[in-house]
Amino acid sequence: MDLVCLDLEGVLIPEIWIAFAEETGIASLRATTRDIPDYNELMQQRLRILDENRLTLPEIQRVIAGLSPLEGAADFLQDLRQVYQVVILSDTFYEFAQPMMQQLAWPTLLCHRLRVSDDGQILDYVLRQQDPKRHAVEAFKALNYRIFAAGDSYNDTSMLGSADRGFLFKAPDNVKAEFPQFKSTQDYDVLRAMIDEAAREG
Ligand SMILES: [Mg+2]
Repeated sequence: MDLVCLDLEGVLIPEIWIAFAEETGIASLRATTRDIPDYNELMQQRLRILDENRLTLPEIQRVIAGLSPLEGAADFLQDLRQVYQVVILSDTFYEFAQPMMQQLAWPTLLCHRLRVSDDGQILDYVLRQQDPKRHAVEAFKALNYRIFAAGDSYNDTSMLGSADRGFLFKAPDNVKAEFPQFKSTQDYDVLRAMIDEAAREG
């Protein structure tokens, strides 16, 4: 039995924080896990900037609702789900992802959540667990699934390493250079061919 684990931002949808930075003009919100590999350090910085600028969850959700999945992502995912079980493993938050999930036909999503005040201020974030992508892959393997995984950034590499086969997708050059053990592509058709090939090889 085969299960495909996919990262969300940078693989199926744009980087939410970058889109929000462009909309608000706050350049310092552009940083992602590609720039700051320590996720907790990155999130503390983001929450501090939101607080300094008095930005609330509804304003962020309004921006996200105007975004579209990456070109070809919805078709890729729909075709993939006809053959494989697919789970999205993301370090985003349910509160951010929901407006985009509708456009992807509501795939299963495992991520984190936010703690928000009654007036919409983001107070804190609640990580489901540490290293959640790797733990999810290991749990699925314990259920006798063979795991193929694809992601684009530092926070995906433990998932790719623990999967039976891991692929970098639309990864920046520094990540590709640091993790040459993972095959890499920018193209959904090529990624699908890589997954199919891995499945055939057994
Ligand atoms: Mg990503």
